[in-house]
Amino acid sequence: MNDKAKAWDIIGKDFWKSGRKTAKPSNKHIRKFSEGIFSTSYVCIVGASTKNLIEHLLAKNCNVFVYDFSEKMCMDLRKEIDDKKCKIELKDITKPKLLNLNKFDYVLNDRLINRFNIEETISYLNSCNKILKKGGIVRSSIKIGLYPMDEILLKNAKSRGLEKHFFNSKTSTINYEASAPVLKECVQKHGNISKEKLINWYLNRREEKRFSITDFDNLVNSSFPDGSLKIIEKLLIDKSSDTYLYTLKKRK
Ligand code: SAM
Repeated sequence: MNDKAKAWDIIGKDFWKSGRKTAKPSNKHIRKFSEGIFSTSYVCIVGASTKNLIEHLLAKNCNVFVYDFSEKMCMDLRKEIDDKKCKIELKDITKPKLLNLNKFDYVLNDRLINRFNIEETISYLNSCNKILKKGGIVRSSIKIGLYPMDEILLKNAKSRGLEKHFFNSKTSTINYEASAPVLKECVQKHGNISKEKLINWYLNRREEKRFSITDFDNLVNSSFPDGSLKIIEKLLIDKSSDTYLYTLKKRK
């Protein structure tokens, strides 16, 4: 059981019902994610939270599978989306051993990588390489650098000499669980989600890496030196939040 699933069990459908609009892919992003995907495609979307992207691909009559490690996220999505049209499966994408081989033409996720530490990102990439068909495509959006809330947290902590408790500046990894003493004062509004629920969501999200473009490029190249999975495009899709849409391709 991945402890981080508890964070998403806490937030559940609130994420898409009352969360911040910018935390969901915009219509423009959805068009980019689904470019070139046809009704015959087998598509794995990681993250039940990305309900609008799932609905868009179902409307294109694709074979849509949703992988999510949170029972509550799966359950809440099932209440909104016809399970007959879309397979919603309780699966942890950082556990390659438990996943099916060579099944998908596309693996899509919106800022999932921002929820991972370095080790989880490597496992996730290995899972993608495993579940994709030969020549298959991954499209992952990544917010580059620190989130505004990270900056507020660190500024507050620095004034009290606490930043080292929860921020590893060498790996640029934040540990929200360890940020508890300052989190309560710094948590930012997220739509209409209650402050208490937000604080518990962050605390259970635990360690998250904040990537630079170089970091991520190097991580992919060092994880797949043989080019079996490689970056074929990185597109700035949201200038204001410095979010890139990465496209990776599995070797044919
Ligand atoms: N855009 C949002 C954001 O910026 O936070 C969504 C990020 S991610 C796609 C969140 C979704 O992925 C949630 O539904 C969560 O339960 C799921 N998720 C997170 N880590 C996962 C993992 N290791 N395996 C499967 N699903 C995971």
